[in-house]
Amino acid sequence: MSKLLVVGSLHYDIMVDAHHRPEKGETVIGTGCSFKFGGKGGNQAVSAAQAGVEVVFCGAVGDDEHGKWLLEVLKKNHIDSQRVEIIAGVASGMSVATTDAEGDYGAVVLSNANTRIDAAQFSNAGVWSNVGMLLLQNELPEEVNLQAAKAARQRGIPVCINAAPAKLLSPALQGCIDLLVVNAVEARDMSGMTVESLHDAALAAKLLNKDYPTVIVTAGGLGVAYSENKGNVQEIEAERVELVSTHGAGDCFMGTLCASIMRGETLSTSVINANKAAALHVSRKH
Ligand code: ADP
Repeated sequence: MSKLLVVGSLHYDIMVDAHHRPEKGETVIGTGCSFKFGGKGGNQAVSAAQAGVEVVFCGAVGDDEHGKWLLEVLKKNHIDSQRVEIIAGVASGMSVATTDAEGDYGAVVLSNANTRIDAAQFSNAGVWSNVGMLLLQNELPEEVNLQAAKAARQRGIPVCINAAPAKLLSPALQGCIDLLVVNAVEARDMSGMTVESLHDAALAAKLLNKDYPTVIVTAGGLGVAYSENKGNVQEIEAERVELVSTHGAGDCFMGTLCASIMRGETLSTSVINANKAAALHVSRKH
């Protein structure tokens, strides 16, 4: 089987638990703290590897302890990290996230070394050896995504993007995308449609399907909708689970989805597989 190339971010995540998240000017006494491997790129790569595909990662870390640890986690998950650049004199990417008693979270990200990835590497044929799919997110400079997407397209390799965090894609990048995956907030920002129900998600997916060949809109605990072939829309309800934390739900969805498509499953089966994996993910402490 060919490999999934993930071009994405790596962050050292500091996770703080509190009864509620601070409002403007408020100081909240927390209830716990943990340190996690993160970055949308890193998390999606790990989910895809755990779902059974070979993953190659292109990214960057700083020459610090966090960077060493991020590389170790990639290796532990059998992800090929030979092309992760180690940038001298720069800190690794990091984030600070707060999770409240309901399991909802908010985060601040410092991209640091992630902004220093060399976009020129994608013209090197070696990067694309046995690659069957490219997976991108919105946490790297657009130029890096664009060069990677263009190089993949030239080679006939499908390009998937999880357009998170919300940011409008340039027309050049948009033109390289085969599969767009967004959550309710990103779907609203890209389509102008508010997503408050699964049916809204389906309408937003249909609207975005005018500009992208295939579109999936995830809608948290409501489920997921997708649209292909210019408006053939399907809605899939979320699995009923006891919510522990929504942190990383979209990343788990995305990694599992790509792994499933690469195994040769249909889009429909792949969305169902990803919906199940993401539901299991939100029902566990991680
Ligand atoms: P993101 O984490 O990117 O904001 P979502 O919140 O839309 O993404 O969640 C992604 C997917 O995770 C959903 O489409 C669904 O499959 C699953 N999921 C999220 N929240 C729940 C929940 N409360 N119950 C079951 N599945 C969930």
